[in-house]
Amino acid sequence: TQTVSRPEGAQKAPLPLDVEAIRADFPILSRTVRDGKRLVYLDSGATSHKPRSVLDAERWFYENVNAAPHRGAHQLAEEATGAYEEARRKIGAFIGAPAQEIVFTRNTTEAINLVAYALSNAATAKEPEFRTYAVGQGDEIVVTEMEHHADLVPWQQLCERTGATLRWLGLTDDGRLDLSDLDTVVNERTKLVAVTQQSNILGTINPIAPIVERAHQVGALVLVDGAQSVPHQPVDVTALGADFLVFSGHKMLGPTGIGVLWGRYEVLDELPPFLTGGSMIEVVRMEASTFAAPPQRFEAGVPMTAQAIGLAAAVDYLQALGMDKVEEHEKALTAYALEKLAEIPGVTVIGPPDTVARGGAVSFTVEDIHPHDVGQVLDDLGIAVRVGHHCAWPVVRRYGVPATTRATFYVHTGYDDIDALADGIRAAQKFFG
Ligand code: PLP
Repeated sequence: TQTVSRPEGAQKAPLPLDVEAIRADFPILSRTVRDGKRLVYLDSGATSHKPRSVLDAERWFYENVNAAPHRGAHQLAEEATGAYEEARRKIGAFIGAPAQEIVFTRNTTEAINLVAYALSNAATAKEPEFRTYAVGQGDEIVVTEMEHHADLVPWQQLCERTGATLRWLGLTDDGRLDLSDLDTVVNERTKLVAVTQQSNILGTINPIAPIVERAHQVGALVLVDGAQSVPHQPVDVTALGADFLVFSGHKMLGPTGIGVLWGRYEVLDELPPFLTGGSMIEVVRMEASTFAAPPQRFEAGVPMTAQAIGLAAAVDYLQALGMDKVEEHEKALTAYALEKLAEIPGVTVIGPPDTVARGGAVSFTVEDIHPHDVGQVLDDLGIAVRVGHHCAWPVVRRYGVPATTRATFYVHTGYDDIDALADGIRAAQKFFG
């Protein structure tokens, strides 16, 4: 009989995506950094690079169309309107939503502020149909301790404006949501629950279904922060069951300056506007105005047309790869990274220790070396990571660390990037040891 022994070290499962072919699509990945070193980009969680097709789509718009949509009687304006609305349709289809439920915003942050301001504006709206979701004294807003500041500060501010109370779900020691008190934290006073689908710092993928179920039981709305999930896994709003989903184009291979608020139409339809001005009106008189139906009600001013078209090209690119494969790819990389980091003495991962319900954001500390120093050594080697509190200050506080070093993965990430990271951490230990 033959004994089959497991090879030593971290396992490299076959990757579903062709990393070399994908890298060739990203012009920036052919540049070098720090005196000729290959760019090892492990910061897609902050912002992603753009494939050529996205850059081309924006250029196409400016070179060939460049007009303000929904205005003007000329051919260019007509073509701009067509391209902008086709982008809306395509981006909606990407998350299983009809175009009329897609509101373009500047980014996730603005999308969350839009909802938060709509809820406080509702309290003083003169139109009775806009008061359905009004938040006021005695009401409660629920978040989690895992939220990015973008999904925390706007809710704190909403509470300050309205006299409502902010409550939150805590975290377990292994970086997951603690849902043990879900039924008391989310109760008859709750107006809205805001939760991230994937943590930008811990990598945790949260169970949305039980939260939606409880929130809807008590008549509360649910907003899902998809900034770190929509770029990395298939997301379908019907399956999700929430009322709002928000995400940013720049984190999913698209341009900066474009984000999305998806809202269930019947909810959007009863919300007052956030920003006001051109494009979002129905009738304007000197005394007062009435507002357009969604999504136009929430898109004041000339929109980010080229950026929407660029984001639609990013969606095309991701769909051609297949979101199932993108998710699998990152899961394999994450499993490998967790194993590689576990092999290095003194390295502690903050967040779930395995790849069960965990995405490709790996935060860690290195014993006796400040994360900024780790980041500096890695940068000298051409490795881009993020260091700090990652706009989730309560999370680093919860785990008793001042900051972390974070590596995030995407479609062009390969095992060579993670090997470079592990070698870089060892180099930092040698340097500071
Ligand atoms: N939510 C999460 C989970 C994030 O990771 C981020 C950005 O890092 C945001 C919200 C905010 O995104 P943006 O800065 O694009 O508005």
